Amino acid sequence: MNIVLLGAPGSGKGTQAEALVARYGLVHVSTGDLFRHHLSQGTPLGQMADAYMREGRLVPDEVTVAMIRDRLERATETGGLLLDGFPRTTAQAGALAELLAERGERVDAAILLDVDEALLLERLLGRGRSDDVRETIQTRLTAYREQTLPVIAHYDAEGVLHRVDGVGTIEAIAARLARVVDGLEANA
Ligand code: AMP
Repeated sequence: MNIVLLGAPGSGKGTQAEALVARYGLVHVSTGDLFRHHLSQGTPLGQMADAYMREGRLVPDEVTVAMIRDRLERATETGGLLLDGFPRTTAQAGALAELLAERGERVDAAILLDVDEALLLERLLGRGRSDDVRETIQTRLTAYREQTLPVIAHYDAEGVLHRVDGVGTIEAIAARLARVVDGLEANA
């Protein structure tokens, strides 16, 4: 089962993704983590992504999709993927559908962690990551609104979208997510 975890920056996606992969034996694929890894290794891809990440803008689709293609080629025979931070544009969603179709697979569910924007800002400002300064945060939230909200609409139209309230303790939110995934497994 392949699951896309959607949510704005600061929605708690990364934390919840870790809990989901541990619980369901999924392979965690996070484009943010992949970019940060490339950056720390000083690869050409990392160097090109650097400026975008520092400014809070999305790395161009061709670059991101090529990186994902490479990652998925190394993740065959899995019990399923948990995609975290990808897709963030409708072009990326189209590319993902194609990559999965090549394996005879699809996005089985897209789960949106719903958190309102005032709370997102508060969380992001408190997190202290290097791209968590106010100006960058605003850019990232704008990118989310303009480029990623259409991805949510896309999965909604496909009938695979599940919304989960992303406000509460980490454990409470993890339990809500687990209910959704257990429901998917029961219907599979
Ligand atoms: P994240 O850790 O998911 O918040 O990602 C950190 C940064 O990496 C983002 O602000 C973007 O610059 C870049 N990034 C991560 N995922 C993507 C993606 N799917 N498409 C484009 N850029 C991305």
